[in-house]
Amino acid sequence: MVRRTKIVATIGPASGSPEMIARLLDRGVNVFRLNFSHGSAEGHRQQAQIIRDVCAEKKIYAAILGDLQGPKIRIGDLHKDVLTLHDGDPITLTVNADKAKTDSCISVGYKALPSSVAAGDTLLLDDGLIQLTVSSIEADDVHCQVKVGGELKSRKGLNRLGGGLSATTITEKDLADIELAAELKLDFLAVSFPSCADDLLPVKEKLQALNTSISIISKIERAEAVANDDTLNGLIAASDGVMVARGDLGVEIGDAQLIGVQKKIIRYARRANKPVITATQMMESMIYSPVPTRAEVFDVANAVLDGTDAVMLSAETATGKYPEKVVAAMADTCLGAEQHPDTHTSDYRIDTTIGTIDESIALAAIYAANHLENVRASICLTESGATALVMSRLSSSLPIYGISRHQQTCRRMALYRGVVPIFMDFSHNIGNELYPAALNTVALSASLQQGDRVIITCGDIHGSGGMTNNLKILEYQR
Ligand code: PGA
Ligand code: MN
Repeated sequence: MVRRTKIVATIGPASGSPEMIARLLDRGVNVFRLNFSHGSAEGHRQQAQIIRDVCAEKKIYAAILGDLQGPKIRIGDLHKDVLTLHDGDPITLTVNADKAKTDSCISVGYKALPSSVAAGDTLLLDDGLIQLTVSSIEADDVHCQVKVGGELKSRKGLNRLGGGLSATTITEKDLADIELAAELKLDFLAVSFPSCADDLLPVKEKLQALNTSISIISKIERAEAVANDDTLNGLIAASDGVMVARGDLGVEIGDAQLIGVQKKIIRYARRANKPVITATQMMESMIYSPVPTRAEVFDVANAVLDGTDAVMLSAETATGKYPEKVVAAMADTCLGAEQHPDTHTSDYRIDTTIGTIDESIALAAIYAANHLENVRASICLTESGATALVMSRLSSSLPIYGISRHQQTCRRMALYRGVVPIFMDFSHNIGNELYPAALNTVALSASLQQGDRVIITCGDIHGSGGMTNNLKILEYQR
């Protein structure tokens, strides 16, 4: 059984060695995430090289995603290591850097804070673990009362329930990290905190100036980004893919809202032919524990049933005690969820018209695969991976073999649900020779038996993307 849902693993001190990268690949990681919020440029450079070397050795096409830190608003340094906040305590957040820090006064670097909040607002510290209610605003100071107390440490994140705390989307550090991502030829670049399509413009300009075509994954993590369908769909359309970044989004809109919003983001992304990653706290308890809770298993399974392309691990693999076990648990869970019959068939866009020939071929291929008897796999010969991506927007229980003669296309397809990337240089196979060559390439991994049917799509002309115009159904002959 081929697992269709992909796994993104964040790399950190617990998982960066060549040995551990090799083991994570064996357990099923498809995409490695380098988190630019931590570590140095040199560290990321070395890490990317290790991942590329191990993948080359194992002949596995896994992608690397660089995740920009973005303008996350944080509190400053505290005057002590741990500040305990009790329910009901008064506490002041000040943007005046000269003011003395005390048990009841914390600094915040974000100068616009006093003008961005109002009395009655809820402010969330440390991903919502601590909650404050704004009581009044006085020049540089925001006076609050502790609603839910806890232990606070320096530089923790600050959000406002409902969103509205905004800073420019791209920081100087992000621009430097984009240069690094281009230098390392990363496959995906995750952009943090865009609130609408226009927020991506500075990233696109920078990428253009660097003459690089890295795919942009927008992290949906601001209340503004999901405030209405036009904004959300606009942001999805302007991106090459999206991430349901539940850590920040959950604190901005509240977990109760997040349940439906996750489903909506996944549905809209698929409809726009874009891949989508579901992220954050998926198997959080496995940072310390060798087994997931049943609730976590069901959270991962739910994302699979929602139609996500990939599920993501953060601290679980970056700093956790059981990086290998958590990937294995996630892979098992995805396979289990994929047994559900709802994920085997599709009525995707059944009642809409289709704009392009290659899109129509892609949809027809998977409809045929799902409805014709004895089909074991689909094969998509692809330059850019675009046709494989459209094919994978339809639910199916059958694998899609994305065959490309471009290594970067193979790495990108590693993220797409149901697509198994295979590298093959088919430039020299002419005419009908191409079909048996492609069939033989997948015969082993698809365990093809005499007479099994396979669906193949390709274009007449090699070398140009978006030109798929052939759909053939073949019977495998040994
Ligand atoms: P982060 O993004 O881990 O970089 O904050 C993911 C999220 O907010 O869920
Ligand atoms: Mn985030």
